[in-house]
Amino acid sequence: MGRRKKRTKRKLALPNLPMQRQLNLRDEGTHFDLRAIFDDLNQRHFRKRLRGYKVVWGRRRKHRPREQFVFGTIQEEDRMIRINPALDQPFVPLWFLRYVLYHEMLHSVVPDETLSKNRRRVHTEEFNRRERQFPDYRRARRWEDENLSRFLR
Ligand SMILES: [Zn+2]
Repeated sequence: MGRRKKRTKRKLALPNLPMQRQLNLRDEGTHFDLRAIFDDLNQRHFRKRLRGYKVVWGRRRKHRPREQFVFGTIQEEDRMIRINPALDQPFVPLWFLRYVLYHEMLHSVVPDETLSKNRRRVHTEEFNRRERQFPDYRRARRWEDENLSRFLR
């Protein structure tokens, strides 16, 4: 019994990810090519309005989060969209990843609303309206509800 335990431990200590997945700031993951998806969405839904953006997989975390899973972020200052690398897995449908990217891209064209001095609203009525226009919106939201637990601890 002791031996089996030891073996398990050693196995866990070995890096079990291919090299390219250990690197940050790559737009080409193992399963999805973010750049290609971004370019296609930009052309299809934004008339190529988004210029000079970098689209990268974010930093890989050691542990899955307990409560909140952030699918993606956009930083307007340096025009950087980061997608959570936990989405670079075979069970994630392409149309879901496209939805995640679309959502972040939409932030760059729909302005935030200032509610008060310290409060801003990023998911405005207009944002939500345009988000619903995404062809796979409904099934993407459903998939998110049904699969969120797989990204959490
Ligand atoms: Zn958002």
